[in-house]
Amino acid sequence: MNSIALNQSYQRTFSRGRCQFSSEWQVIGILASILWSTSCEFTFAADATVGTLATADTSVQIEAQDRTLKLLALKSVRSGWNWTTGNELPLVRTAEVNGRTQALNWIFKRHSSSKGKKGEVTQEIFVFENANPALELKSIWTAYSGPGPVEHQIAISNKSDIAVMLPLQPSIVFDARGPTGPLENVWVEKGAGKPGVIGTHRTKVEKKFFASLISSPYCQDQEPRDAIPWTAIQDVTSQQGWYAGIEFSGRVQMTLRASADGASANGVQAELGLDAREPFQTRLLPGETFETPTVFVGCYQGEVDDGANQLHRWTETHVRPPVHDERYPFLVNNSWGSGMAVDEKLATKMIEDSAELGLEIFHIDAGWFRAVGDWRADEKKFPRGLAPLADAAHAKGLKFGLWVGWTQGGHAESDDGKNLSVFNPTMKNWFTRDYKADWRTAEFTGADVCLGDVHAQDWCLNTLRRVVQDNKLDLLEHDQRMVVDNCSRSNHLHTSSSTDIAYHAARGYYHVYDTLRAENPDLLFENCVNGGRMVDYGVVRRTHYISITDVYDPVSNRQAFYDASYALPPSMCECYVANHPGKSMASFRSMLRSGMMGWCTIMLDMSQWNAEQRATAKRQFEIYKTELRPLIAHGNLYHVSERPDGIHWDGIQYVSSGLDKGVLLSFRGTTDVRSHVFKFKGLAAEKRYELSFEDGTGKSGKLSGEQLMRDGITIALAEPESSELIFFKPN
Ligand SMILES: [Zn+2]
Repeated sequence: MNSIALNQSYQRTFSRGRCQFSSEWQVIGILASILWSTSCEFTFAADATVGTLATADTSVQIEAQDRTLKLLALKSVRSGWNWTTGNELPLVRTAEVNGRTQALNWIFKRHSSSKGKKGEVTQEIFVFENANPALELKSIWTAYSGPGPVEHQIAISNKSDIAVMLPLQPSIVFDARGPTGPLENVWVEKGAGKPGVIGTHRTKVEKKFFASLISSPYCQDQEPRDAIPWTAIQDVTSQQGWYAGIEFSGRVQMTLRASADGASANGVQAELGLDAREPFQTRLLPGETFETPTVFVGCYQGEVDDGANQLHRWTETHVRPPVHDERYPFLVNNSWGSGMAVDEKLATKMIEDSAELGLEIFHIDAGWFRAVGDWRADEKKFPRGLAPLADAAHAKGLKFGLWVGWTQGGHAESDDGKNLSVFNPTMKNWFTRDYKADWRTAEFTGADVCLGDVHAQDWCLNTLRRVVQDNKLDLLEHDQRMVVDNCSRSNHLHTSSSTDIAYHAARGYYHVYDTLRAENPDLLFENCVNGGRMVDYGVVRRTHYISITDVYDPVSNRQAFYDASYALPPSMCECYVANHPGKSMASFRSMLRSGMMGWCTIMLDMSQWNAEQRATAKRQFEIYKTELRPLIAHGNLYHVSERPDGIHWDGIQYVSSGLDKGVLLSFRGTTDVRSHVFKFKGLAAEKRYELSFEDGTGKSGKLSGEQLMRDGITIALAEPESSELIFFKPN
């Protein structure tokens, strides 16, 4: 062990130590400790202890006794169906101490229960202990009283005075049987650099069904694609199902297989947690706690979209950082349409354009900084810095946002330690490997820092504090790889296992962002990792919107949105709109609307548009803010077509939660077929709805919800690659 290693382990044990808990855990801890003061804590001997907790949709019942923990029930509150078979939840069986593997013997010790009031958190915690080495294991179940799933996490604390190496502890394992079957599995790919060919996967659960869904911190474009760590099992005949997901940005896995004894395969065994495909080991120093990724499981009635809508409400309320502005999701004007060429003159013009056309955030993308790793404004492009531009944006009522690739180090060193450099002797060990003397950065990409190193975390956090303050930021976008899963250093927090590297790097990323957000509660965060390469519920907990792919043409935007909007609230699904105006105003409108189904960021030089295009765009932006946005922010979303392919027709439909307002966004591809029937979903059958066509391609009319859902309406569009918005409200 060299001197740096000694220094690091010193800092880790004494200054961080057990403070590696992420902030949501701290919040839950505070809430729980308040609630516990009014709740009971029991100690049990041989009798079984049962805990129950429920949301409006999902109820679970857990039993602990002697050496076992069982999931007795995973029940749909609405249908009453209990999906589980009462299986045991496996607890890690061995640990390594001083290089020797020891069997663990978990004994159930305590149970605590806190019942929150309406809208508050309810928790059931089961505590097990192992005598030698002294370890404590907590199974923590959490529920909120509204719609949505129940959460589970296992935390293992080292109570001994010696380092303990742990193998992989799954977050949850359960065996779920449907009431009638057949079952269907649905999962969606990350949009990565470009949406994949399939995107949304629907697979019949037959006897040999098996799926291993991986979510890594940096999804590649090659097959097999990463999943957004969400999946659903639909019981087709009885019209109900369950969904599950993982709240973590490291390497995670969801394994699903048909139950062994089910000839008709009406059962699925599910295991969720860290990626278990390679040998895993994590190191727990005395006093430290290992936390499995938090997972959630929810039951629903209806179709997969109905379950997803309940999940979206829960995510908006309990997972996504709060937003203190009614305009969310905002309309953004981003400078990347001009690439690295951005300077004060262009930015000033874009601010004026943004205000004139009704956008709400002016955002400077890459190109503003001195060098990769040196996150200060380029003095040639911005001689006065960026603060005057923030002032100019604010004076026009706009928010001001900035791109920072803050995990990227460069080659240039500075005496004052202001830039992150692979050649700075005090910093070089923060990177995942050594770099040769002639290594140079690309234009806006450098060397990945490993956030599994506490010194690297500190530098990044302090730099972001300065960047946010100096530049008067309302919005911070990160880009490039945030979480590494490959690092050659032996003196970081992780072992050599790639899943453990990603585990610690993800927690380092969370530490930086949780701290920064606590200090800047109104700051908005955008997650971009070269497009949609890191899309998961750990990121959802830290950012307000997520870039879902890295190509920006209308069809790619609609494909990426179609996939991601199952797993994520649509308001968080960001599409960048690049300039693909097409041949007519109809295709120009279609380009804009293809990026307006969720979070919309305009990424082109709007001053290049002619007067007619500007007027058209201004009208579409107005519709977005007044009509679409309330539905995107709070409404239910339905996938009312096959996934877009650019050839056929496709569409997305929204309806408000009160079923009194909605829209169908319909798109015609390159097909010669001039009309298409769209069947609506999620309406009140008995209500009569009045329909209106934004572009006047159809006649206004009145139809019952039942008619709209059963027979649908025919949309006819004269031009290929055009679109129509059909609004409806009860008459
Ligand atoms: Zn590392």
